Parts: sequence; C-alpha cells; structure tokens
Amino acid sequence: MRMKGKNVIVTGGASGIGLASVERCLQEGASVVIADLEGSDGQDQAARLDDRYDGRCLFKACDVTDTAQVDRLFADSVAELGSVEAVFNNAGIGGICPSDEVTDEEYLKVIDINLNGVFRVARAALRVMYHQGGGSIVNCASILGVFGQSQTAAYTAAKGGVVNLTRTLAIEAAPKGVRVNAIGPGYIDTPLLEALDDEMLQGLVGLHPIGRLGRPEEIANAFLFLASDEASFVTGAHLLVDGGFTAGKS
Ligand code: NAP
Repeated sequence: MRMKGKNVIVTGGASGIGLASVERCLQEGASVVIADLEGSDGQDQAARLDDRYDGRCLFKACDVTDTAQVDRLFADSVAELGSVEAVFNNAGIGGICPSDEVTDEEYLKVIDINLNGVFRVARAALRVMYHQGGGSIVNCASILGVFGQSQTAAYTAAKGGVVNLTRTLAIEAAPKGVRVNAIGPGYIDTPLLEALDDEMLQGLVGLHPIGRLGRPEEIANAFLFLASDEASFVTGAHLLVDGGFTAGKS
C-alpha cells in the first residue's frame, strides 16, 4: 500500500491516462478526487471505483481554464478529505492543424487548457501544500514537449512550456517540502488518439522502438512513483515514458 492515507487529485481523471491513474492510486490505498468537466463520465467512474476500493473516490466538476473552479476544487477537496498530498495535473486536449491555417481561437484553446490550466492547478496545489508543509505535483507533459511535430504548434508549445514550468516550480517549491515533476508520455492508446486513422496509428507505432503504443496503466505507474515517497529525492524531472521514442531512430 504505497499511497495509504494519502489524498490525490487527478485532473482529466474521467478518461484515459487520468482514469488509469485514479484506479492505480486507489489500489495503493489512497483516496482520490476525479476532477473533470461537468457532464463527463467522472461521476459514474467515481461511484464505480468508490464501491470497489477501501479509499474514497469522489468526483468534482472542474474546468482547468477557470481559476475559480480550480480554486474551489482544492478548497472542497481539503474540506472533505482534510489534505491533498499529491496532484496529477493531467487534463489536456489534442490539436492538429497546419500553422498557417490555425485560428487564434483554436490555438489559444489548446494553450489555455494544456499550459495555463497546468499553472492554475499547480498554483492552487502549492498554496495547499505549503500550508501542509509538503506534497507532490506531477504535470503531464509529452514527448512533444521535447520534440517538434508538424501541425501541432499549440500542443508542442504548451507541452514544452509544461516541461520548463515544472523546473521553475520545482526550484521554488523545494525549500517548502513540495516536489514538482513532469511525465512525458509517448503515444498512449487513449480516446485522445481517436481522431487518428489506422494508417496514422501504425505510423506512430513504428516510432516507438518497443513496437507498440503505450497503455494508460504504464503512465499511471510512473505517476504513482513520482507521487509517492519512493520519489523523495526526485524533483524538477521530466520522466519520459515513451517506449524509446526519444532515444532515437533504430
Ligand atoms: P483523454 O482520454 O482525452 O483524457 C483527457 C481528459 O481531460 C478528458 O476526460 C477530457 O475531457 C479532460 N479535459 C479536457 N479539457 C479539460 C478541461 N478544460 N478541464 C478539465 N478536464 C479537461 O486523453 P489522455 O490521452 O488520457 O490525455 C491525458 C494527458 O496526457 C493530456 O495532458 C495529454 O496531452 C497527455 N498525453 C497524452 C498522450 C497520448 O498519446 N494519449 C501522449 C502524451 C501526452 P473530454 O473528454 O470531455 O475532453
């Protein structure tokens, strides 16, 4: 029970990597708040998981583009659970469009969720964790935080921003007992990839030396490590979990 007695918030927790991380933390004894958009599967998933595990699993509607909702998420979670020891700053969307065609609206939406949203959630988490005297924040970056990719200007800019934001927050928060890290997934089989056709997916498989896409549980395991006390000397890191994608071409 690596997370016994700890309370965890997972943004974007109703689907994909977030949902797998919620369940992995529950398996290790934590109580977990699924934070996701109103109308998502979060409520149903929380009810299902709350029945299955000893720890509590709650749903709280939260759009990470809205500072008031983010701050309320933390206030309500502390009020109900007493503390927040770990946060997975995971909510995110994709976005594929040639750079000369993308509109302000499309570009800024990706930045506001994938980068500004990560900051809003981290700021709220720091306030709670400084008050408590410790905690662990894990931001979801990407291989596209360190590699460019055609037609993903906003996404790659946001994820690159998350990697360096993580370093700055880590330096600032370390003296107060809070660790801040990022995870850089390779391509993971989640609803985020539903927009891609079979040919594109096969092309992506070929970019991973391990020869397949990743599974959400494989990112959840990395989150579990960084969130837990096992990572007590790890801060400011960007842990790539990518089947060898960033190692180079075979
Ligand atoms: P996913 O299954 O689509 O899950 C993302 C979740 O975030 C969804 O429940 C989504 O809700 C929610 N969300 C979207 N906008 C939100 C907002 N404004 N506020 C709160 N929640 C919001 O995708 P995933 O693949 O698990 O992605 C999770 C994270 O991993 C993202 O940050 C993504 O960029 C990153 N990542 C994914 C991959 C990959 O290959 N899958 C690779 C690298 C990094 P809706 O479903 O209603 O939009």
